[in-house]
Amino acid sequence: MLSSFLIVGKRPLEIKKAIADVTEKDELKKGGRILRNQNDLASHDKMNLRPFVFGVDIDGVCAQHTVAFRDIVARERNVPVDSLTLECSWGFEEWNFQEGDFERFHRQAVVEHRMLADMPSMPGASKALWRLSEAGVWIRIITHRLYTNWDHAIAAGDTAKWLDKAKIPYRDLCFVGGKTAVDAHIYVEDAPHNIDALRSQGRNVIVFEQPYNRDLSEPRAANWEQVEAMVFEQLAIYQGAVQHQLPGFDPSIERLAD
Ligand SMILES: [Mg+2]
Repeated sequence: MLSSFLIVGKRPLEIKKAIADVTEKDELKKGGRILRNQNDLASHDKMNLRPFVFGVDIDGVCAQHTVAFRDIVARERNVPVDSLTLECSWGFEEWNFQEGDFERFHRQAVVEHRMLADMPSMPGASKALWRLSEAGVWIRIITHRLYTNWDHAIAAGDTAKWLDKAKIPYRDLCFVGGKTAVDAHIYVEDAPHNIDALRSQGRNVIVFEQPYNRDLSEPRAANWEQVEAMVFEQLAIYQGAVQHQLPGFDPSIERLAD
């Protein structure tokens, strides 16, 4: 709404110009300016018109991989589940794995037990990701589940099934070993080698806390509440402000059942 001082004492043409000036200033403030030339086009990215992309790992971040894998190894070895600690290093040495054991057990887990379709999800992951998605964050799932030369159909199919079952929202699903090949404004990851590789390229990575990554530096998150807060903080910096869901208008969160 124009204030009255712009109108008083001005002739019709001056009033029109005053309206145009104020309208353009308002549009610029809102970031709603129409692109006009090459310079404007070059500044397209600076105007934050691209979505804010969040790269999300699955195993050890959205899915409790160690818990699911331990159940299957215990069954295969016919030992009590509690005899296998969850305080594992990256290579499961605490479970007395010998050369080739990981590959053998993991293949059994994926192919015979269909572990990738049936893993406990990480508490709070689904709701946090829905809230972020509805605030405009582009969720990009990045996983290295095709790391062997067999049974890709099972691994890929069961991954998609699990994401549906766990109610994880996403716009891209990337199966890739070298995670630096996939762009994102911020990542959440648990594997030490992936975190190191991404950070060595200056990428913004939240370490999702697991026993095998305790020596890695901040930013670190112990749970999905902390991940969500960190991503919202980065989104606010990227956009200048964040519009959360209005209170009382949150049907998509309500329809999720844990
Ligand atoms: Mg992982």
